[in-house]
Amino acid sequence: MLNKLQQQIVSLVCNEDGASRADLARLTGMSKAAIGTIVKELLADGILQESDIPASGGQGRPSVTLSLAPDAAYAIGISFIDNQLVMVLANGKGEILLERNLIPASGIPPLVQQLANEIAAMLEQSAIDRQHLMGVGLALSAFIDASQSVCVQSALMGWHQVPLAELLSKATGGLPVVVENDTRALAIHEKTFGLLRKQDSAVVISHGSGIGSAAVIHGRIWRGAHGGAGEIAHCTIVPAGKPCRCGKRGCLDTIASLTAIFEQARMEGIDATSLSELEAMARKGHSAAVHILHQAGDALGMAIANQIHNNDPAAIMLAHQPEHFQGLLNTVMQQAIETNLLPGMAGKTPLIYRALEPNSWALAAASVAIIHVLFPEY
Ligand SMILES: [Zn+2]
Repeated sequence: MLNKLQQQIVSLVCNEDGASRADLARLTGMSKAAIGTIVKELLADGILQESDIPASGGQGRPSVTLSLAPDAAYAIGISFIDNQLVMVLANGKGEILLERNLIPASGIPPLVQQLANEIAAMLEQSAIDRQHLMGVGLALSAFIDASQSVCVQSALMGWHQVPLAELLSKATGGLPVVVENDTRALAIHEKTFGLLRKQDSAVVISHGSGIGSAAVIHGRIWRGAHGGAGEIAHCTIVPAGKPCRCGKRGCLDTIASLTAIFEQARMEGIDATSLSELEAMARKGHSAAVHILHQAGDALGMAIANQIHNNDPAAIMLAHQPEHFQGLLNTVMQQAIETNLLPGMAGKTPLIYRALEPNSWALAAASVAIIHVLFPEY
C-alpha cells in the first residue's frame, strides 16, 4: 500500500503522462531532495519506471521522465452491458492483455461461480502471479452503495441489495473486489488514464441503452452521501410522462435512451436497429424519425444544461455508442444545451465526444480496481 506522499506522486505522474523530478518538485512545492527520496522508493518497488527523453536538438543531457510501470499493477475488469459479459485483464497503463466476451449466467450464485472460474482461467493463461493482481473491478449499470461493495439497485438487471463484492471475493479465495457504477467507473478511468487527466472538474454523460452521469469535482469522483450521485437517467423530464422501468414516470431514460428511441421507432412502425439507420431516415425527411430524434436530443440537452448549472464543470464528456453521434440527435442536443443555459454560462463548457468500444466498460472497471489500491482515497 502506498503512503499519502507516494500516492500524490504516482497520481501526478499519471496526470502528466510522464513527469520529471523537477516537474514533480514544481507541482508539489516540495524540495527536489524530498521528491528524489520518494521517487527512489517508488522505483525500488517497481511502481514507477524511468525513461530518457533526448534533449531537443540532440544537444546536452537527456531528461529523465517518470511513468507508471506497466508491471506495477494488474487488474481484472468486468462489465455487464446489454446482456454481454466482458472481462479484461489490464495492466497499470490501462492496456488490455486478455479479453473474454461471454453470455452471463442467470441468477446470482451461478453468475458469481462463472466469474470466479473465468478469473482463475485468465490468471492461468496470463501466467501473472496472483500477488501482482491488485484486484477485480465490476462496472454495473446500477446504484452502488458508498462502500463500493453492494449493488443496491439495478433496474436493468433486476437486482436489489446484492453484496456482489463479498460474494465474488469469497468465490475467488479472497481477491479484493470493488463494485462501481458504470459511468462513474468510466469517469475514474478517464480522469486517471484518459481524456480528462488535465481536468480538475468534469461531468461524464454516458448514452446507450440507458443513460448515466458522473461528476469529477476537485480532481475526485463525487459519489454522493449515499452513493447515488449522478442518477440522471431517472430525473423527471416530463412530469406524469411515460412509465419508466424504475417505477416512476417521465424519466430522462423514457425519452432519450437508445432503448426508448428504438421502442418509439417500433411503435411508429419504423424498422431500425441502429441509430445510424434512424438518422438516415430523418435525413430523408421521415417525420416520425425526425420527431423521435428531436424529442430525445431535446431531453438530453436539457439534462446536460442542468448538469452545467449544477456543477459548472470545466468540460462535459459525452460517452456514446461506437456508431456516429453527429446527426440530428446531436444537433438538437447541442441546441437544447445552449437554449437551456443562462446566457452568462452558454458557450463556456466544451463537449468532449468519446466513442465507446464494447470493452470500454470492462477496462474502466479494471482501472477502478487499480486506483482503489493505488489511491484508496480517490
Ligand atoms: Zn426512471
